[in-house]
Amino acid sequence: MNTNRYPKGLESIQTPFYYYDTDLLRSTLACIKNFENSNEGYYVHYAIKANANPKLLKIIQEYGLGVDCVSGGEIQASIDAGFDPHKIVFAGVGKSDWEIALGLDHDILCFNVESIPELEVINQIASEKDKQANVCFRINPEVGAHTHTNIATGRAEDKFGISMEDMEKVIRLAESMTNVHFMGLHFHIGSQILDMADFEALCDRVNELQDRLEKENVKLEIINVGGGLGVDYTSPETNSVPNFVDYFSTYRERLKLRKGQTLHFELGRAVVAQCGSLITKTLYVKEGNQRKFVIVDAGMTDLIRPALYQAHHKIVNISSEAETTDTYDVVGPICESSDVFDTDIVLPTTHRGDLIAILSAGAYGETMASQYNCRPFAKGYSTEDFKD
Ligand SMILES: *Cc1c(COP(=O)(O)O)cnc(C)c1O
Repeated sequence: MNTNRYPKGLESIQTPFYYYDTDLLRSTLACIKNFENSNEGYYVHYAIKANANPKLLKIIQEYGLGVDCVSGGEIQASIDAGFDPHKIVFAGVGKSDWEIALGLDHDILCFNVESIPELEVINQIASEKDKQANVCFRINPEVGAHTHTNIATGRAEDKFGISMEDMEKVIRLAESMTNVHFMGLHFHIGSQILDMADFEALCDRVNELQDRLEKENVKLEIINVGGGLGVDYTSPETNSVPNFVDYFSTYRERLKLRKGQTLHFELGRAVVAQCGSLITKTLYVKEGNQRKFVIVDAGMTDLIRPALYQAHHKIVNISSEAETTDTYDVVGPICESSDVFDTDIVLPTTHRGDLIAILSAGAYGETMASQYNCRPFAKGYSTEDFKD
C-alpha cells in the first residue's frame, strides 16, 4: 500500500468497512481536554449522534467528556459505554415519554427543552416519579450559520428551539412548575461551521439575552452553546485536528460569562470525523460514453453524506502504485442515482480490486448507515484491532 496511514492486515478484511485511527482520536481528545482543563467552568459533551461505535465511545469516555444525546437510545448507549449520567444533556424537538422517563431515572444533567408542550410533559412525568427535572431552554438565536441548508438549525424558519420572543414566558412557566428546575439556556446553530464569525454572532446574541434576563432578575447557571465546529474535508491529512484554538478562544474572548456560570459545548463532528475512513474495494472500472466510473462496494447505505448533503469527502486509492492518473466518478452499487461519492476526481489509474479510502468519514457515517437493498452493515475496526 502506498500510504502509512493504515495498518498491515487491512487488505484482508471483507469490504466495505470503517477504519478508525484511534491514535488520532486520542490526540484530538487530548487537545479538547486541554482546553476544558485550562478554562474553568468549561464542559464538553460529546454529541454521540456523530458516532456511537462502542470502541470509540470507550475511548471518549476515558477522557471524561460528558454526552449530548438526542434520543433515549443514545442515553442508553452512553450509559452502557460508562459515561457519567450526570454529564448527559438531552436535546431534541420530539422526546417520547419513555425517553424522558429514562433521562429522569438516570438523573441526567439537564433536558434541553424545545417547546411548552414538552415542558409540561416533563413536569408531569417528573411529578409521577417524585423527581425534579433540570431543564434548559433551547432558544433559536436566529443566527444563520454559513453551512449547508440541511444542517443549519438556528434560523428563524428552522424547526428547532423556542423563539427569543417567548423566552421570558417559558422561563416564568418553568419557575411556576413544581417538578422542573430551570437552569439556563441552550443553543445550537448548525454543523460544519468553519467561519468563527458565526460563533461570534452567537456569543453576541447570548450576551444580549443574558442582559435582558438580568433586568428581569433571572439568573442562569448554565449556558450551553451547542456544537457545530467544522472539519477540513478537503485536506484531512494536513488538518487532522480541527481548529479548537480559534473555536474556544472565540468563546473565551467574546462570551460574557457571569460568576459561577458553567459553559457547555456539544461537539460531535469535530471529535470523530477525521479519525474515520470508509474502506471499500473497486469492483469494476466502467468506461461510459462520457465518463469513467469507479464502481466500489460501499454505497450511500454506508455513508450517506454525499447523497444527503452534497458533501465532499477526499477519496484516495490506497493500493495503487500506478504512476498514471485518470479522472473518475466514484459510485456505489445502490439502486439510486444519488449513490455517488464524488464526480470528476483524479485518482491513480484504478483497477478492479484496488482499495479505496473515503476520508473524514468518522462523523455521521456509521451512525447514519441503513440496510437499504438488504445490505449488511459495514463493520467498524480500529487501530487497536491490528495491534498484537
Ligand atoms: C448534532 C448536534 C450537535 C453536534 O453537532 P456537530 O456539528 O457534530 O458538532 C450538538 N448539539 C445538538 C443539539 C445537536 O443536535
